[in-house]
Formats: sequence, structure tokens, C-alpha cells
Amino acid sequence: MRFPFDFTLTQALYQAKMKRHGRRYPTVCMLEPLYTCNLACRGCTPERHTGKLADRLSVERCLEAVEAAGVPIVAVCGGEPLLYPELPELFRKLIERGKYIIMCTNAQLMDKKFFDIIPPDRHLFVNVHLDGMEKTHDFVCNKPGVWQHSIKMIKESKARGYLTITNCTVYKETDVDELEELCKLLTEIGIDGILISPGYSFEKVHEDVFLTKQDIDAKFKRIKEFAPKYKITATPAFLEFCAGERQLECAPYSTVNFTPKGWKAPCYLIDSDEYYQDFDTFWKSVDWGYWEKHSDPRCANCRMHSGFEQTAVEQAMGSPKDLLKLAYWQMSG
Ligand code: SF4
Repeated sequence: MRFPFDFTLTQALYQAKMKRHGRRYPTVCMLEPLYTCNLACRGCTPERHTGKLADRLSVERCLEAVEAAGVPIVAVCGGEPLLYPELPELFRKLIERGKYIIMCTNAQLMDKKFFDIIPPDRHLFVNVHLDGMEKTHDFVCNKPGVWQHSIKMIKESKARGYLTITNCTVYKETDVDELEELCKLLTEIGIDGILISPGYSFEKVHEDVFLTKQDIDAKFKRIKEFAPKYKITATPAFLEFCAGERQLECAPYSTVNFTPKGWKAPCYLIDSDEYYQDFDTFWKSVDWGYWEKHSDPRCANCRMHSGFEQTAVEQAMGSPKDLLKLAYWQMSG
């Protein structure tokens, strides 16, 4: 199976329950306990890697946010989660509450701050950022040696029994053949999943690394061709959307984002100063209908999985042909 059975079942039961209460609901809390990072990647908005560690969220505040959102899945990102001193306590308490954790890490500190400290658990996915082979990834991360260390950590993570996946952002410079080479290598290592998504053009990033709509179409048409050979976690409908073959609404409410400044509106991508301190006010204040249409200029080239994967799945559920494709995709992983 593409995802572990218990993870898929928990999500399906949660979604069936939530659908009874309305069309819009969150599925994932993107929890950013800190805006401090040990890298300064080219495609990352500066806010996320220049924050002071002292401004981090407390464990209590993180747990309150997750409970308020009521979601089964928590993607712990940042900043670099492994720099968060209370990470073992946070993970232990999230797992006690039955949450699934996706730890989004650049993997550079896994040998010092993760292995032997946080044990493997079926509720914990290690999600390593990897944007290509060595030259490309080190260029994106702005530092030589990052790729080599990440690959070493991925192998170690698999050997120690952690569910280990990778997260690859596609930029203007991304060579699709190189991406397939990366998928082959990760498959040999025994990776549990490969997420591929187009990069979002952050306003505060001045490097010319982001894709136009035409770039995304062309690259994802090729990615879609080789995707069935690998354990790629993007659904078929989402890949078709990225290849320009399907229209989707955005669902920014499906991946709500809690940061050291509060709940960020409307989504974790848009540079805005709209933050809310409590979930109910956040949920009721955002004009979700407006953002669903993705007609705002800041949504122009966005095809991020965090915005569109939920609607891709929902659209697929409405058509027998797409539903069969989705079922085959899940079983064939
Ligand atoms: S399209 Fe959706 S996910 Fe993308 S920037 Fe706009 S609101 Fe955010």
C-alpha cells in the first residue's frame, strides 16, 4: 500500500465524520513551533529561517492549537524542528493523543538530535527535504555537503525502522531526468514515499527560481509519465492538475498553519500579516470562498499540494473512473 493501512483508515474515518458537518474542514495542522533554521535555502521565505529560538511556541501552546483544529495529522515544520529543544516531549504528547506526525526536516541534525532520543513509532513519519541530486540540492540549500548528509541520514533512518519519506520541491532549474534519477536512488534505499510538488513563488524571495504556469505544465507532464514506477505520494488527480490537465479549487482550510505569531491566514504560503490567536476566530474570519477560487494575484502560479491535494481527492471520489485510479494508486504503492 502507498500509505500504512492505519494511517489511511484514520484519515478516511475522520473525513467521513467531518463531511457530515460541512464541506470545509481542516485535515492537517501545519505546526511551526519555531522560525529558526540551521540552513537558509534559496526557495524559503526569510521569515522561516531568521527567527529567534527564544520566540518559539511552548509545548502547551502547540498542543492547544492541535486540539483546537481537531485534526488527525500534524506536520511539524518550521524552521527546523530538530532545533526545537522540547521536540521529544511534543512528539510524545502528540502520539499519546493519537495524532500522526510528519516531521519535515532538512536531516542535518538527525544523528545528534533525533536517533537514540525519539524512538520509531507507526504514528511518526520522518519527511526529509530533498530537491534533487547532489549539485542541485546543495545549490537550493545554499550549502555544500547537505545532500550527502541527507542521504546518509535517510539510510540510517530506514535501518533504524522509522517510516521515512522525502519532500521534493520542483523549481525552474529542476531537470526532470535528474528527478527520476533521485526517485530511482530513493527506491533502492527503500523509501516509504516521495512527495513532489511545484515550488511556491514567495514574494519575499528575490531569487529567480520559481516556475511559471507553462513550466509547471511541461515538467509535470513528464513527472506524471514516470510517477507510476515509484512510490510517489501525490495522487493521480493532483499530478494531472499540476500537468494542466484538470481544474481544481483550492482548499487552504485543509492545511491550517499555526506559527509563533498565531494562526496564519489564509494559508502557510501567502506573505500576509493576518494572524489570529484563537482557532475559532481564525476559522470564522477568513473568507474561504474567496481563496478557493485562487484568483488573488498571490495565488497566480500556485499549485502546491497543501492547497490542492484535498480537492484532488474529493474530485476523484465523485467519478467512478477517478475513484478506481485512486484505489489502484493506494494499493499499488
Ligand atoms: S492557491 Fe491556495 S494554497 Fe496557493 S497561495 Fe492561494 S490560497 Fe494559498
